[in-house]
Amino acid sequence: MIERFEVALNTPAGRLTTAIDVPTGFIPITSIVPVSRRLGDEAAQLEVQQATAAGQTVSCRIGCAACCRMLVPLSAPETFALRDYVDQLPADRRVSLLHRLSDTKDRLKQSDLWDRMNDVAEASKQVPDEELDPINQSYYALRIPCSYLENETCSIYEARPAACRELLVTTPAELCQDLVQNPVTPLPVSMRISSILGLVWGTLTDSPPRLIPLPMALEWAGRHEEEARRTWPGSSLLDQVLDNMWRFLSQEFTNRGRADGKDR
Ligand code: SF4
Repeated sequence: MIERFEVALNTPAGRLTTAIDVPTGFIPITSIVPVSRRLGDEAAQLEVQQATAAGQTVSCRIGCAACCRMLVPLSAPETFALRDYVDQLPADRRVSLLHRLSDTKDRLKQSDLWDRMNDVAEASKQVPDEELDPINQSYYALRIPCSYLENETCSIYEARPAACRELLVTTPAELCQDLVQNPVTPLPVSMRISSILGLVWGTLTDSPPRLIPLPMALEWAGRHEEEARRTWPGSSLLDQVLDNMWRFLSQEFTNRGRADGKDR
């Protein structure tokens, strides 16, 4: 059976109202990923509308891969969802992807980056930004095209990680060729879905909030297969996601110097 929830979220860029259908029975964590992403996409769309009304133009388009050389972090739920998505790809595309991932792994192993990223993915406590920043910078310096690119187009566009969806810029796309040297202006992000899902997963599994680097996401999901099989009541999962969204939005209102937007 399905239960419908009417959700209202006040974001700094406007009010988001939507209906969400959630199974009443027990569901795996992957079932809550699409709905979380949809809410994140709708919040991002409000930011786009606000920027457009202010005369700005968002440069990001499907088919643009200028920024797809950065290290993308995924929450554990997204990692399991990505593995499921890849599993249902046609065999030829899946094999090509696995080859590209293997090539990327070889390149990262030539330096110590693969092991450092693996330490982050398997850390027993939350990894602070000061430790993540040098890894992100070393990875970006290599300018490795994301393994999920096919002919410079994201091959998993509808299933791409939340972090990819949330990076929208109002500066010309060509500036994204070098995100270190060029002045790139991103749109504000009112709620980071990978962080929210990471917090939910941490609560459910009594583990630290964890972000897994995209190049090793499939391997990580394979190592944690047992955890992916666990199930929880659908409405309880949605409650946890929404609670964390409200917390993020409240913080974002504060960051932008505005009143708290909490509204159930
Ligand atoms: S998953 Fe897709 S959008 Fe994200 S970095 Fe890779 S190619 Fe780009």
